[in-house]
Amino acid sequence: MKYISTRGKAPTLSFDDVLLTGLARDGGLYLPETWPHFGAADLTAMKTLSYRDLAVKVMAPFVEGAVDLEDLKAIVDGAYSCFDTDEVAPLVKLGENEYVLELFHGPTLAFKDVALQFLGRMFDHVLTKRSAKLTIAGATSGDTGSAAIEACRDRDNIEIFIMHPNGLVSEVQRRQMTTVLSDNVHNIALEGNFDDCQNTVKDLFADTEFRDRVHLSAVNSINWARIMAQVVYYFWAGLKAGAPDTPVAFSVPTGNFGNIFAGFVAMKMGLPVSQFVIGSNANDILIRFIESGRMEARGVVATSSPSMDIQISSNFERFMFELLDRDSDALNTAMADFKAKGSYAVTPAFMDTLKGLVDGERFDDAATAKIIGDVYRESGYLLDTHSAIGVGAARARRWDTSVPMVILATAHPAKFPDAVKAAAGVHPELPAHLADLYQREERNQILPNSYEAVKGYIERTLQARGKL
Ligand SMILES: *Cc1c(COP(=O)(O)O)cnc(C)c1O
Repeated sequence: MKYISTRGKAPTLSFDDVLLTGLARDGGLYLPETWPHFGAADLTAMKTLSYRDLAVKVMAPFVEGAVDLEDLKAIVDGAYSCFDTDEVAPLVKLGENEYVLELFHGPTLAFKDVALQFLGRMFDHVLTKRSAKLTIAGATSGDTGSAAIEACRDRDNIEIFIMHPNGLVSEVQRRQMTTVLSDNVHNIALEGNFDDCQNTVKDLFADTEFRDRVHLSAVNSINWARIMAQVVYYFWAGLKAGAPDTPVAFSVPTGNFGNIFAGFVAMKMGLPVSQFVIGSNANDILIRFIESGRMEARGVVATSSPSMDIQISSNFERFMFELLDRDSDALNTAMADFKAKGSYAVTPAFMDTLKGLVDGERFDDAATAKIIGDVYRESGYLLDTHSAIGVGAARARRWDTSVPMVILATAHPAKFPDAVKAAAGVHPELPAHLADLYQREERNQILPNSYEAVKGYIERTLQARGKL
């Protein structure tokens, strides 16, 4: 399997190179050259597979030629043995023809574990084969940082530096990062806000001498391997909800569009999907796009669902490329407009295609709290703020009630205890493996909001670790 860039001007790469490269050199995102396909008979046979066997079946065509099947199996086994259930992602019935897919059974209680536990091991495998080392740098406002740290901890080939804004992440989120005391994990609390963290990371990548010297890499959702690992649970849930005998619908609380794009890939690969619903908070760029046909960035506002507080949905580029029948020229025109003017428009024909498949709804914090309270009173099921937006959007925008609707629950309610308590009146308990989180020792380097300070800290740390 080979990979091409959405922008059409970067070299075609194999899976292992795409894994380590991240963003393509032409600024685009990598996608497989062709979509593997499963027919109805294949899908029926896949219904009885365990989550792990299904993961191998779905991902094998994407790594063909780069990773041996036996190695893929071992990586999948390792990744999903860290989940608190063999099912990995249990499907729970919520209402009539309405299901919640629980994606928060991994070590850090958010769906990002499903992809990052896999990615960390895949990195390790490829780096070991090449006798290579990697320095990972990332900025986080919450979930990504802890999931990446858990995925990379104690891996000899990887040093990981995660920056969070000092004092501006929730206590659960901070402790999930700073209580990991592994020697290769380095938490930086930057004296600035999230944008300062993100800009510092961008500056590190723009510093090409530094980037090459320390073998800098990223773990954000532009990495194809993350999307690939997420495709699996769309098949898993879709087959359990009745596919291929019936089409299914999915509702996804959306930020960067990575998660929902993985569902689109599953559809491309043969899963019958009749509708995708986008759930947004007040940062509603995608909902405005559906309404107007114009993608237009605005400032970010802080909400009770912080993992969806984004300005631009970077993975939407992949979706657009597919809806444009892979026309890189048309895509480049839109992206150039976006860079120059902060917005772009698409054709009415494009919007017709999109609206035949995608709908969406936005919810402010008060509406989100009401959904949590209503669902808890009606069924005793406790949702987190992100998953609540998924449920709200599914109920507001469902096209056909005879089609099973699967709502992706992206975080455990105990990750956002204050918002959940205020909405439902009950305090969500942390699962057993995190019950002592508030007693654990923390380690954390506070640094001034200065590029030189961060770069210097990374260099000194790598030297002390014998990695430079
Ligand atoms: C990251 C995240 C999202 C958004 O996922 P995208 O792939 O960026 O659309 C939603 N909910 C939670 C809990 C998250 O951590």
